[in-house]
Amino acid sequence: MAGIHQKRRLGKLFESPAPEPPPATERVPVLLPYPFAGPFDYRVPRGMAVAPGDLVLVPLNRRETVGVVWDAPGEATVGDNRLRPISGRIDGNPMRADLRGLVDWIASYTLAAPGEVLAMALRVNALRPEPQHTGWRLADPLPATRLTDARNRVLAALADGQPRLGVDLARLAEVSSGVVRSMAEAGLLLPATMPASLSFQRPDPEHPGRILSPDQEAAAAALRGAVRDGVFSVSLLDGVTGSGKTEVYLEAVAECLRGGRQALVLLPEIALSAQWFDRFTHRFGVAPAVWHSDLSARVRRTTWRAVDGGTAPVVVGARSALFLPFPDLGLIIVDEEHETAFKQEEGVVYHARDMAVVRARLCAAPAVLVSATPSLETVANVQAGRYRCLHLPERHGSAGMPEIVLIDQRATPPERGRFLSPPLVAAVRAAFAQGEQAMLFLNRRGYAPLTLCRACGHRMACPNCTSWLVEHRARKQLQCHHCGHAVPIPLACPECGAEHSLTPVGPGVERITEEAAALFPEARTLVMASDTLPGPQASAEAARAIAAREVDLIIGTQIVAKGWHFPHLTLVGVVDADLGLSGGDLRAAERTVQLLHQVAGRAGRAEAPGRVLLQTFSPEHPVMQALLSGQLAAFMAREAAQRRPGNWPPFGRLAALIVSADTAQAADTVARDLGRAAPHGEGILVLGPAPAPLAILRGRHRRRLLLKTRRDIPVQPLLRDWLAAVPVRGNVRVDVDVDPVSFL
Ligand code: ADP
Ligand code: ZN
Repeated sequence: MAGIHQKRRLGKLFESPAPEPPPATERVPVLLPYPFAGPFDYRVPRGMAVAPGDLVLVPLNRRETVGVVWDAPGEATVGDNRLRPISGRIDGNPMRADLRGLVDWIASYTLAAPGEVLAMALRVNALRPEPQHTGWRLADPLPATRLTDARNRVLAALADGQPRLGVDLARLAEVSSGVVRSMAEAGLLLPATMPASLSFQRPDPEHPGRILSPDQEAAAAALRGAVRDGVFSVSLLDGVTGSGKTEVYLEAVAECLRGGRQALVLLPEIALSAQWFDRFTHRFGVAPAVWHSDLSARVRRTTWRAVDGGTAPVVVGARSALFLPFPDLGLIIVDEEHETAFKQEEGVVYHARDMAVVRARLCAAPAVLVSATPSLETVANVQAGRYRCLHLPERHGSAGMPEIVLIDQRATPPERGRFLSPPLVAAVRAAFAQGEQAMLFLNRRGYAPLTLCRACGHRMACPNCTSWLVEHRARKQLQCHHCGHAVPIPLACPECGAEHSLTPVGPGVERITEEAAALFPEARTLVMASDTLPGPQASAEAARAIAAREVDLIIGTQIVAKGWHFPHLTLVGVVDADLGLSGGDLRAAERTVQLLHQVAGRAGRAEAPGRVLLQTFSPEHPVMQALLSGQLAAFMAREAAQRRPGNWPPFGRLAALIVSADTAQAADTVARDLGRAAPHGEGILVLGPAPAPLAILRGRHRRRLLLKTRRDIPVQPLLRDWLAAVPVRGNVRVDVDVDPVSFL
């Protein structure tokens, strides 16, 4: 009956002219850069028109905040009458659909709040109008008035017609700021807008580059084609260290420039990329725009605007550059794609390599992943036919691959209390005798990783973390590398009171430097570690000094592995090749091979052949054998074969939950509840809860659970239901890490 009744009413509606709808309140969802569950609805005031992507100012509690009109409807929990109005539109380009899509995609993949992801894209800082930098110019004609010497100097300083800031003018004319002010009051000077200080020149794709070898040219041609196609694709550019991968992908950048579109190059450590910038400038005649988290607010603002306005054709950046507002992105390159530095571990936990591929898809642009030691994830994508592979088989020019030698530490141990074995010491001496440079690699900062009391066996530990304190002898400190806690090196053991009984155990680069100073007193030594080369300038200066042969011996941590090209470096000694192999990390072997292969790749990049000596206690280990034979593909195939049966990545999916709380009990309670509520089913496995290896970090107690599923089972819905089932209160946090890279 009800059905019939309804039909009749509908019928009537169709017969008579439709009544005017009541003036509906126009409500739009606005996403705010804060960790709320989603966008909030706001009312569009009469006379204002907004569209998705528009930047708006809206009231939030008692403040005004910047938000973005979003696509998805917000939560309609607030009645029309209680809806608050948008306060105003912010001038400028709207956030474009592809970037909004990226924000939504990352939020739903990582389970972060969309607003948290938006905050990364919104550099609110960059949205505020640029502070007006007003300078001075000469009035024309000049009013007749008395001119002192000082005033005459000011007039002379402005005679070229360029406006100048008051401070600059005063300095240039050697007058006080009072003189400038009084001249303005007298009408001699008029305010003038200063031109933007930072402009980005157009890199010239036709600037003569290097002549590519046939292999390089083939790869470059394939990449140019991908750029011209203007559709989404992913290519892996792999080739041994020194094979010219950078030269090749710069050709893809050139093609992108020819098409008038923008290109983005992601580098894992922008601070260490001085040589890369030289290469770029050599190829294109000018430097690219740079983006990373340490830019000054002013440079950041100018760069952001130039990207947004399309006047920065090429941006080179750290992972946060992925969120820049490119209007016409035509190419994304991820150099050293295997690097774990692309994984952001704090805040929104995402992998910039993977999200670069997502952004490329949203922009219908090609992505190029570049590495001499591609990750197993990427290799699996190539084998599954999802990514194309371009391969450079050999080093450029006459340089061959370095010779690899394993030094069995059991057979030829270093002297007592030393860390460099006789064969390594002899090889370094031989390199010096030839007038060549040598490098010692140890991936450990400081003097010694552990300090022990000889009297009672007490070990110096961090009071806030599950970790030993690292001795930094130069700074006379014991330091925690996890929380930064530092104390002066005590004279007596804090446990038993014995004096002068604390002994360093094991080496860090500082200790190797001390040993090298005793062994090679003549050598000019440079230490390259994140704490000795604090910024881009320091690392650029280091690179210069090495290239200019002002250095004989380089001693460094993993920062020496990255992309450097030192033509006079022929010998690399790895002090402890086994270092990365301990610990239960899924990727320990893969990562050790990648790191040591990269370090080895620094040797012999020019005419003189290179040698690499690896000190190890287990020369038979598959990692050492892979490095020795150079058969990295075979090694990766073996890794794959080990991971496939258990559905370990890349053949299955992983997500970690990290529970942390002020007390062990609070952490345990929530971890146990999560354990009980864990998802189950065919192809789903939950490991834990278990104390994290870093069971206490910055005073917080940590527990981990690991969800492992078959590849065809997405983890996000499982995680959402799982988290919703377990209430979390008080100071307890549960962090989600989809596709974890670190298991600490
Ligand atoms: P990769 O990125 O594979 O490690 P690079 O692109 O850094 O290799 O090249 C290694 C070195 O060889 C660089 O100094 C580079 O300028 C030089 N090089 C590579 N290809 C050529 C070429 N076709 N002509 C001249 N120099 C080249
Ligand atoms: Zn600590």
